[in-house]
This record gives sequence, C-alpha cells and structure tokens, in this order.
Amino acid sequence: MPLGFLDLKRLRIAPAWSKKEFEGLKTPNEYVWRNWREWWGQMNHPSRPPGPRFRYFTVSRPLHLLTDACLAWQPGYTRRVSTIGPARRSNRRRRSRCGRTWFTVLLIVAALAFSQTSLQAGDRTFLGLSLGSSNPPAFWEGPTDNRLFPRPKGVVKAIMLFARFPDAELEEPTEDLFKRLVPEGQAFFKRASYGAMTLAVDVRHRWIPMDHASTSGRYDCHQWATHKTYIAEVVRKTAAEVDYSKYQIVYIVGSKNKGTPDSPTWLASRGTGVQAGRAEVLHAVTFGNDIRNPNWGWQTLAHETGHVFGLPDLYSYRPPTRRYKDYHRHVGFWDLMGFQAPGCEYLAWHKYKLGWLSDENVTVATKSTSTILTPIDEVRGVKAVVVPIGKKEAYVVEVRSRDGPLKSRYGVLCYRVSLTLGTGEGPIQIIPAKPDDGDPELEKRFVTLYHALFFDGPVVIDATHGIKLEIYGREDRGYRISVAR
Ligand SMILES: [Zn+2]
Repeated sequence: MPLGFLDLKRLRIAPAWSKKEFEGLKTPNEYVWRNWREWWGQMNHPSRPPGPRFRYFTVSRPLHLLTDACLAWQPGYTRRVSTIGPARRSNRRRRSRCGRTWFTVLLIVAALAFSQTSLQAGDRTFLGLSLGSSNPPAFWEGPTDNRLFPRPKGVVKAIMLFARFPDAELEEPTEDLFKRLVPEGQAFFKRASYGAMTLAVDVRHRWIPMDHASTSGRYDCHQWATHKTYIAEVVRKTAAEVDYSKYQIVYIVGSKNKGTPDSPTWLASRGTGVQAGRAEVLHAVTFGNDIRNPNWGWQTLAHETGHVFGLPDLYSYRPPTRRYKDYHRHVGFWDLMGFQAPGCEYLAWHKYKLGWLSDENVTVATKSTSTILTPIDEVRGVKAVVVPIGKKEAYVVEVRSRDGPLKSRYGVLCYRVSLTLGTGEGPIQIIPAKPDDGDPELEKRFVTLYHALFFDGPVVIDATHGIKLEIYGREDRGYRISVAR
C-alpha cells in the first residue's frame, strides 16, 4: 500500500506545525523515508563496531516515524510544537477531538501498511537466496545499499590529489604515480563492467604539504576518525581549487613514508562526511606505500574502488597461520577483492552485485536444469549458474581462464557464497578441482588455488542437500552445465 494516502490539500495545517523538519515535504511518506534512510545509514555506518547494531528498533522505527508523520500532518497535533508556542485554548479542544479521530484512523492504516511492507521485506530474495528481515552489514555478498555506496554505472567521477608528509622519504613526480594507478585502473573498470561504467579521474599535479609527520598518529588510517582527519586536511587545503560537489570519490596518494603503509578506503554516511563548502566528501581512498610494490599499482586502485562500491574483502582476516597462502585460502587470485596480482577480474557474483550482469546473465537453479555458460570476459550470454543451498548459501559456477603468462584454457570455476559471512570472513570460497601441488612456478605466480578449474565431469556432489552439478560437455568456448536436485 502506498503511504502517501493523505490528501494534504484538504487538511488545514496550522502555522505552528510548520516545524523545520516538516518544511518542504509534501506527504508524510517523504518524512518517513527521509528519516528512515538517515537512520539506516547511521546504523549501517562502516565505522560502527560490530555488534547487535542492526537489531535495535528495526521493527518499531518505521512505525514510530510514520506515527510522527501522521501526527504532524493531522489537525490538533500539539506535542511537537511546544518549542514554537502553545496553540490558542479555544482551538485546542476542537482540534484534539478531531485529532483523536484522525489519529485512530491513521494508526490502523499505518499498521496495515507496515505489516504489508514487512511481509514484502521478509520475502525479498537475491539470486535465489532469502534476505530475510535481519539487517545486513554494509559489506556483504547480498545486494548493495546504494544509499551508502555509489552505483558503478555511467560516469563515476573522482579527483586525485597528492599529500606530502614532512617525513617523506622520496622525491617523486606526481605524474609517475598517476600513471601507475589510473590509466590501467580505468581500463579495468571499462572492461570488467562490459562498458557500463567509466571511471573519470581529474587530477591536481602538486604535492599538498601536510602539517604533521605521517607517524604522528593523527592520520592513523586504521581508525575512522583519524583517517577522516587526514582526508579533511587535504580537502581543506584544496577547497579553493577543487569543486568537490563534482566528485563521488576522492583519491589521495601519500608520499612514501613510514606512517601510511597501506591503502585503505574511507566511507561515511551522509551527515558524517568531510564538509567541503556545500559539498560533503563521503568516499575516499588514501594510497600508501603498498602501491609502489610490483602488481600493487592500478590493481590496488581497483580493489579499493571495489570497496567504494560495496564489495567485501575476500582474503582472510584471520588465517590459521601467517603464511601468505593462508591469507588467500578463500578465493586466491580469482577475484580482485582477494589476492589482486594476477587475477585482475571480479567473480560473476560480484559483477551481478555491482549491476554489470543482469538476471538474463544468471541462471538460478532452484530445480533441475541445464544451461550453456560462456566465458566471463565475453559480453553476451549466461555467465553464472547459481544453485541455492537453503536460504543463505549457494554454489556458483562460471567459465574462467587462469590469467597471466601461465594462462590456462577456459574451464569451470566453482565457489560457495554465503550471506551470513561478512568482509574478511570468507563470504566466498573457491571449491578447487584439485588441491595445490606445490608446483614452484605456479606457487610463485598464483600463490594458491591454481588448480581450481574443472574441465569435465562432476563439479559438486552434495548428498546432504541432494545437489549434483556437473559439466555436461563443451560448446565452443563455453560449457554445458547440468544441475540435478
Ligand atoms: Zn580491501
């Protein structure tokens, strides 16, 4: 049921009710959704510590907002206007009777509307998986919250700036760093999005002097608030020359120094960002020393920009040992959000999440079916078969080749996706055709999961859930996949 059910022209709205928060709004639903969006953004703020933040008021909040909106719009409402001044006595009695009637009617309608909304929310699905009614974290494998993350479609505009700390260790031309990060990063997004997205990067080629040493702790990029301090100082020092309202992403490249070793992404919900005149910076990446390592140039830009678009980390935050291959045990190099050196691609699941693949490009096998899969780097065709396992997990297969100098022929890559695991917890895990065999050349280049591709026969036999997924034959460069369940 639409919530804009009040005919406002018929209502007599007293001047006292034009409290600031209701000004400029035409219907109660505008008020409800505006506040709901704001509240939801705050509750899902990436800087909030993990915990039960998503549970509080999930049910009561929209109803509460709706009640407030209805109260504000119906005659006789006085509770919210006490700061403006009491209504005249003679009108108050008349209004309060009328108000009670309105209030009762509206509460019933609101309850009906809300019960329908919550039912629909409970039934929502994403590639065959149920989203339920729980509130997800910001970074997960379900649908992206585009109130918090920009949509990677059309032209996404970014500005690149360079910050020089007093303890800088090198004299570097900014042009070299720009070339290292941007042109290939732009080519990646163009290619990976099948032309759906263009990353446009403006640049100011000068070093902005920072007030304090990189090691001072003031710019600690692992704490949301101090990371913001770093970004805010650069924004403040460039406010006269940059119109920040034109950009969705701010890239800041730091001079080589001890205090900024890596390249984290910073995100803010509306109202908590870095103010730049009337503009507000909400998405920034600060590039650290790691971009100077081999394979950590444009790939780092692509990885961090993936976070700006809501993708979680696929490497392990808690590896069983400190061996490098254990950090990358979940997906290895098969997605840029994991080990970023040789893969240089996103999995089909991520491409769907980013909106670059549509429902036509994915077969969701809730029943037995057979589909021809074409390679992920070709524009048309079905790119993934998703086989849900219960409500929160799925097997996925797509056609890939192992990239780089040791490029393999196209084969079928299989992985398991979970909606209950968040960033760094292994929300996607590759199911390899064969385990690593310690091949020194492959190990050096790919670290792990280099024998992941299947070329024929069964891919998944899951007796517990009654699922058999197998390669049924080759079709040109693609594969026929059959699912029995
Ligand atoms: Zn990351």
